[in-house]
Amino acid sequence: MSELSNAKIHFNDQGTPVASDFDDVYFSNDGGIAETDYVFLQQNGLPQRWPQHPTAAFHIIETGFGTGANFLLTWLRFRQHRLTHPHAQCQRLYFSSFEKYPLSHADLTRALAVHDTFSDLCQLLLDAYPLCIAGSHRLSLDNGSVILDLWFGDVNSQLPQLTSEVDAVYLDGFAPSKNPDMWQDTLFSNLARLSKNTTTVSTFTSAGIVKRGLQAAGFTVTKIKGFGRKREMLTATIIADTNLEYSSPKDVTIVGGGIASLCTALALTQRGVNVHLICEDSEVAQQASQNRQGAVYPNLHANLTDDSQIHVQAFLFARRFYQYWHNAGVNFAMDWCGMLHLATNSQLKLRQEKLIANALWPAEIVRAVDASAASEIAGLPLQQAGIYFPLAGWLNPQQFCQQALTYLALQPTFTFSAQCHIDKLEYDGEAWQLCTTNGNFTASAVVLACGSKMADFEQTAMLPVNKIRGQVSHIKQPAMTPLKTVLCHKGYITPQWQGEHSIGATFDRSATDAFVSEQDDQINMQLINDQLQQPDWFLNPEVKSAAAAFRATVPDHLPLAGALQANQLYVLGAMGARGILLSPLLAELVACQICKDPLPLAQELVNRIRADRFR
Ligand code: SAM
Repeated sequence: MSELSNAKIHFNDQGTPVASDFDDVYFSNDGGIAETDYVFLQQNGLPQRWPQHPTAAFHIIETGFGTGANFLLTWLRFRQHRLTHPHAQCQRLYFSSFEKYPLSHADLTRALAVHDTFSDLCQLLLDAYPLCIAGSHRLSLDNGSVILDLWFGDVNSQLPQLTSEVDAVYLDGFAPSKNPDMWQDTLFSNLARLSKNTTTVSTFTSAGIVKRGLQAAGFTVTKIKGFGRKREMLTATIIADTNLEYSSPKDVTIVGGGIASLCTALALTQRGVNVHLICEDSEVAQQASQNRQGAVYPNLHANLTDDSQIHVQAFLFARRFYQYWHNAGVNFAMDWCGMLHLATNSQLKLRQEKLIANALWPAEIVRAVDASAASEIAGLPLQQAGIYFPLAGWLNPQQFCQQALTYLALQPTFTFSAQCHIDKLEYDGEAWQLCTTNGNFTASAVVLACGSKMADFEQTAMLPVNKIRGQVSHIKQPAMTPLKTVLCHKGYITPQWQGEHSIGATFDRSATDAFVSEQDDQINMQLINDQLQQPDWFLNPEVKSAAAAFRATVPDHLPLAGALQANQLYVLGAMGARGILLSPLLAELVACQICKDPLPLAQELVNRIRADRFR
C-alpha cells in the first residue's frame, strides 16, 4: 500500500468544496444532490431496481468518494427501499468507493453541513469515517444492511484487488481534463472484469477519453442528456459471460466455541444464514478465549508488510465491531485505554525507532514516547521509552463469547450444540455430514474454527498447526492500581479489572496438555522484573489464579482464513495470541466468501492468509 495524504480543499463563494490541486468542485454549485440523483441513481435505474433484484445484496462501485454525497443519497434511498419492501430479496447494500485523497474529518464535517435533509446520515458517516490509512475500511451501517467499503488509495491500483461482481457503477471523479491519471485503461478494464450482463454504468462526463476507454473495455456506451445546463453525459452496459446466479448456503455449521466461531456466527446471522454452532465443551470460551483481559493492538513491523497491513485493518475493524455489539447489548468488559510498548532492549528500541522514522502510520495509530511521557500515560513510573497506541485497549473475550451466544440464542436462525464432539466430517457430494457424539448433522457449509484442534480432521490433517501452551497469571497488587493503560514489554500487564491484573504470557512449545503451573506464574512475574528493571510497584504481588490454553499457529505465523476445499469447507484459525484482534475481520471475510459478498480485504491480502496455502 502506498502512503496517503488528505485532500487539500477550500470552499468557494457558494460554499461548494473545491479541490485546490485539481481546481475542480466536488459537486456542482447549482445541482448538488439533484445532480447526484439524476446522474448516478436514476441513470443506474435506482431505486427501482432494488425491489426486483434477485439476490440478497446489491453492489455499487464508485470512483472518488469525495464528500460522500453520492453515497449518502444512495444510503437514504436504500433505507427507504427496505422500509417499503421489507420482503424484497435484496436487503443489503454494498457500496465500494475509492478515494486517493480522503477529505480530513474536519473538511468532511464542513462539506456535509449543507445537507440538512439527511443530517442524521451525515453524522453517522462522520462517526464512522476512518483514519487516513491506505487500504480498505469496512464500515457497517444500519445494523449491517448498508456496508460502505472505503478503499483509500488510487483506484487504478486498488480496483484490481476486488473480485466481487458489481451491479452498478458510479463513475465519478474530477473531470478527465483536470485529472487524466484516473481515467486509465486499468480502470475501464477492471470495471469490465467485474461487470455482468445486468451491470449499469453512469458518469457525469461525456469526454471522448471516457467514452473510448469504456468501449475499448467492451462496454456499449450511450450519450444522454446531462444534468441541468450540462449537455451530455454517458451511460454504459456490457455483454459479459453471464455466471449462474450463486445462491449462498442456507445453513452453515461452525465448529468451535471460541471468539473466531462466535464472530463468524454473528457475521453469518447478520446475513440471514442459518447457523449451527457446535462446541465440544459444556460452555463457550473454555480454551484460548477464556482470558479475563486480552490486549487488542496491531503488531507493526518497521517496514510496510502485509502482516502489518492486515493487523491495522483488523484492529480498526475490531474496534468498530466490538463497539457495535457492545452498543447492541452484548455486554462484556472492554476498555480502549491505550497500549504502551516499552523498548526494553536495544534491539526493540532500534525497531521502534525505525518504525516511527518510516512514518508509515498516523499518530492516532502509533507514536513515540520518552520514559517520562510513558510514565504519565501509564500512571506508574517507568524507566524506558517506547511507542504508544492510543486507540488500543483490552477486552474480556470470555464474556464477549458468552454474551454473543446469549444474543445469538435469541435469533430464530441459530442453534447451539454444547458438549458435542465431532468424530468425522464427510462430504456426500451435496452436503456435509457430521458424525458427532450427539448424533449426525447435515450442513451445506462447514467452518472449522476450533483453535488448536484445527488439524484433527481427515480433511485438515495436512495443516501444519503448532500448539503452544500459554499461561496468564491473575495478580493482586495494590501498588499497581494507578495503571491506566495496557503495558507491553516482552509480555504484557493489563490495568486492573475487578481488583486483579492479568500478566502474561508464557510460551511452552513442548506441552501436550494445557495445565496450569505455579512455575509459569513465577516466569510471568520474573519477566516483568527482568524487562522493567524491578519496578517498586511490582514488589510482592499476590497470584490469585491463572489460566492456560493452547494457541495455534502455522509456520509462517499468518492466520488461516478461507476455503480449504471447493465443497464449502472453510477454516478460520491459526491466530496465535491474536484471536481477539483478528477474529472480527477474518470472520467477516469468511462470511463474505460463503455468501459471495464483496470481501473486506484486498485480494492480495486474502491470498496471503488463504487456508489452502499448505495443501
Ligand atoms: N463522489 C463524490 C461525492 O459524492 O462527493 C465527489 C467526487 S469528486 C468530484 C472526485 C473524487 O475523486 C475526489 O475526491 C478525488 O480525490 C477522487 N480521485 C481523483 N483521482 C482519483 C484516483 N486516481 N483514485 C481514486 N480517487 C480519485
